Amino acid sequence: MKTPPLQRIKPEVRAVPGYHLKAYDCPVKLNQNESPFDVPDILKVEILKTVGERPWSRYPQPMPTDLVEALARHVGWAPEGLIVCNGANTLVQLVLAVSTSPGVPIVIPSPSFSLYGLYASIFSGRVVPVDLMPDHTFNLPAIHEAIHRERAHTVILCSPNNPTGCIVSNPDLEALLKHTDALVIVDEAYGEFSNSTALDLLPRHPNLIVLKTLSKAFGAAGIRIGYLLAHPNLVREIIKGKIPFDINVFSHAAALTLINRSDLFRERLTAICAERKRVFDALRKIDRVRPCASHANFILFEVDNADAVFNGLIEQGVLVRNLAGYPGLSKALRVSIGTPQENEWFLNALREVI
Ligand SMILES: *Cc1c(COP(=O)(O)O)cnc(C)c1O
Repeated sequence: MKTPPLQRIKPEVRAVPGYHLKAYDCPVKLNQNESPFDVPDILKVEILKTVGERPWSRYPQPMPTDLVEALARHVGWAPEGLIVCNGANTLVQLVLAVSTSPGVPIVIPSPSFSLYGLYASIFSGRVVPVDLMPDHTFNLPAIHEAIHRERAHTVILCSPNNPTGCIVSNPDLEALLKHTDALVIVDEAYGEFSNSTALDLLPRHPNLIVLKTLSKAFGAAGIRIGYLLAHPNLVREIIKGKIPFDINVFSHAAALTLINRSDLFRERLTAICAERKRVFDALRKIDRVRPCASHANFILFEVDNADAVFNGLIEQGVLVRNLAGYPGLSKALRVSIGTPQENEWFLNALREVI
């Protein structure tokens, strides 16, 4: 008897649904937490010129040292403690690939970014979900309890959390780091929109791993660059699982140019945070809409019928994310902060639909 090829795929993989995002054609697209501001044209021209001058026939460096050094300077951490990859998503996959033995407990607050559970399962880890509080913030006592009860091997915290926008404060994170020897991954994809970062804790906590990206605050989701920060000893091992030459000539040139001009993005950050406050206040004033305070460039809000409101908004030309399928979020939608005009369009459409 031959084994059917599908049975060569691990049962853990066959058991999980993949990552799906249904495409809709809408003039106002506020469903993926992208920046409403594109990379400035002057930078695009500079990047394309650099790419044109590079030899495409040659492999890039296994790890682009000038980019690693620029990112290290940008965050104030040692280049030996940094890995750059094609997006922070790849880094979640990389860390789990090198650290997850079959069955090890991986504590993940729920709901959070769906890829954590997906990759943890694919690498045969055992996902231990910890529900958020009813107000959609982290339940720290329950996280502590789960870490100890399960003797956690890995903890994945998204701060600010996608899709709820809550953060874990540094005192809370430090209390957690002190009481566990698990690897603690803090995904700060939206960190720049909050006043909080775990970077300061890196020197004191060799089990801490911080992930960052150029996809959100730098408005460069298309160039696919993310980076990891951790103790150099940990990085030396994690990096063994990284695919060499993965940063192509375009991503390399683009990322280096953006990081060297990070000053251009500060004003945009301030504008997005100001709009977040304005949208939040406006949502609070709409009857039967309950927004959740957010530290990111999106806001979760609850309505009486999420599916009906989601579809109503599409009819008005506005695409948001429907979270109704997430545990504990059956009435929730998530809207990304766009330009003031896009946000106005969204708010007017929502008032109409409600
Ligand atoms: C958007 C996002 C990222 C960014 O991933 P990239 O691969 O760098 O684009 C990472 N984590 C979370 C939770 C996100 O929402």
